[in-house]
Amino acid sequence: MYEKKKNKKELLSWKETWIITRKALKLFYHYRPHMLFIHTFYTIYTAITPFIHIYLSARIIEELSGARNPQRLMELVGFTLIFSLLLGLVSSLTRRHFRVEDQFLYWLERQIRADKMMCMDYSLVDNTQTHEQLESLEQYANSGGRSLRRVIWFYDMILSGVISLFSGVSLTVSLFTSKVPENAGPLTALNSPLFILLIIGVLLGVTYLSPLFVVKADAVWAENAGNHNLSNRLFGFYGYLGKRTDKAEDVRMYRQDILCQKINADKEGTFHSNGLYAKLSRGKMGVWYVLSSIFSILFSGIVYVFVCTKAWAGAFGLGMVTQYISAISNLSGKVASLFQVLGQARNHASFLKMNFDFLDMENSMYQGDMKVTSLDNGTHEIEFKDVSFRYPGCEQYTLRHINLKFQVGKRLAVVGQNGSGKTTFIKLLCRLYDPTEGVILLNGVDIRQYRYEEYLSIFSVVFQDFTLTDFTLGQNVASGEEYDKARVEECLKKAGLEERLKNLPLGTETYLSKTFSKEGVDMSGGEKQKIALARTLYKNAPFIILDEPTAALDPIAEAEIYSKFNEIIEDKTAIYISHRLSSCRFCDEICVFDKGTVVQQGSHEGLLAVENGKYHELWTAQAQYYTSENTASVQTQP
Ligand code: ADP
Repeated sequence: MYEKKKNKKELLSWKETWIITRKALKLFYHYRPHMLFIHTFYTIYTAITPFIHIYLSARIIEELSGARNPQRLMELVGFTLIFSLLLGLVSSLTRRHFRVEDQFLYWLERQIRADKMMCMDYSLVDNTQTHEQLESLEQYANSGGRSLRRVIWFYDMILSGVISLFSGVSLTVSLFTSKVPENAGPLTALNSPLFILLIIGVLLGVTYLSPLFVVKADAVWAENAGNHNLSNRLFGFYGYLGKRTDKAEDVRMYRQDILCQKINADKEGTFHSNGLYAKLSRGKMGVWYVLSSIFSILFSGIVYVFVCTKAWAGAFGLGMVTQYISAISNLSGKVASLFQVLGQARNHASFLKMNFDFLDMENSMYQGDMKVTSLDNGTHEIEFKDVSFRYPGCEQYTLRHINLKFQVGKRLAVVGQNGSGKTTFIKLLCRLYDPTEGVILLNGVDIRQYRYEEYLSIFSVVFQDFTLTDFTLGQNVASGEEYDKARVEECLKKAGLEERLKNLPLGTETYLSKTFSKEGVDMSGGEKQKIALARTLYKNAPFIILDEPTAALDPIAEAEIYSKFNEIIEDKTAIYISHRLSSCRFCDEICVFDKGTVVQQGSHEGLLAVENGKYHELWTAQAQYYTSENTASVQTQP
């Protein structure tokens, strides 16, 4: 019932496959050049080694079955032993290194995507389409093996195939050039150039056909990769539910496990006995695999018959038989893999294209190059001039004709009901989005003209859904590895976390979870909000923006913060967003947002005096709410 997706992937041309695979390799090289170097060395080394062993063993057998010279035998055995020892040593030294690099590829791929997200325009990050794209890439990479990093595997396999081809051919050329003696009767036909060409042609054909069928089977997998992902998600969902402690209550109360198990037991499901893959294995895909095996066996048969017949006719001795059979088997295995991998790389190219559609997404925000300089008195001034804004892809304007000037060093409150546009206003101020119309000025200059990083540095923001890391308290407050301990403590004290800090045996060195340290502590929502506030203070930027900074605090902690707000903010310009009006009264000026426009502006007393104004309406509504909830509460103080 969940197998709705057909999701056929387009097959790219060989040229496109080459271009996009090379591009992916270059990307990995850019991130980790030594990883590619280690892969190259290890692959060449492991591809060549078997042929060296084959060559040396054949020489010993040749000597044993021929001249049997003890001196020569001793030399050969001694040389083989020393050489094997050296090869073994190098192999153990490099294998570990190779494995580590190989394991790291998983994280590297994640890092590449995370880096892209970090340097994307915020408008793209905030876009659901980007998230769907990212989600789909992760699904393909993790459950279907259709990852970006698979190109490294292709690289290894192709390199290994090419090296084996050269090594194998150099050990088998003499099979075709050595002649059977003239007295071998009809077997002298084996010397004919035509026969030699025919046998080479047959061997190449059979070598090509076996992997060709595997590639065809792989194409069936690739075509159905979308189904594979969906089923993996359904399959994995039970495990995900089972390990999430925060979901444990609902899972038990509503027996969500039964629903999951029912879906997982569905015989028609992708991985089950009547499912898609079982059907494909019994049908089309199974046939391709069987044909591949048949041609692989056929190849070995032809090689054995040809080599043994030539040896029987007297073209060469036992040592060369060993050399040819081993070298050709090895060579054919590698060449078959080479063909197979080339085909698989082509099947995979469309997935690489999906990755690059994401990684090559272009930013459209103008990046200015002006330096941010302060005004004569060392301050900064911001002005919104007739700013209107609608989110990309939306018809409706979220903000309309906003005109505002921040008074330097003053506290501005932005209030309004949910959805009135307060957070969007802050997003424009921080240049996460550019206005659709109008202009925002910093010190009289359009903010788009400034260097983005520098412009951002004048703001310190506590967003509603702020993010802390699992690193230490000090590192969180300072947003860096090194920090000024005394200043961190001072900021924590101002933010109201002094008592809690005293109770932490490791103080600012305490980790904010157990992820990186057993001694880590889990802070409450309110404590985390205070840490976020301390981080804002530590940054010491001229503008402080607080988006509902006390939402997770209990009323006592909230009152405590407000009572010393002036001390906290000092001489900075503060913009404070809230839908709780009582918490805005300490501000010098209040801006009332309604349906995306500023409908009123003024002081608390002034606004309250306008009885038919929005502010009065909101204030009264909140006051009533509080009084109906608790008759003991103060009527004029919501
Ligand atoms: P507030 O902060 O006052 O609650 P917001 O600025 O968050 O209001 O939202 C204002 C309006 O913009 C809402 O109708 C909201 O649904 C819409 N909005 C917010 N973010 C986006 C977005 N990324 N894409 C489209 N619309 C959005």
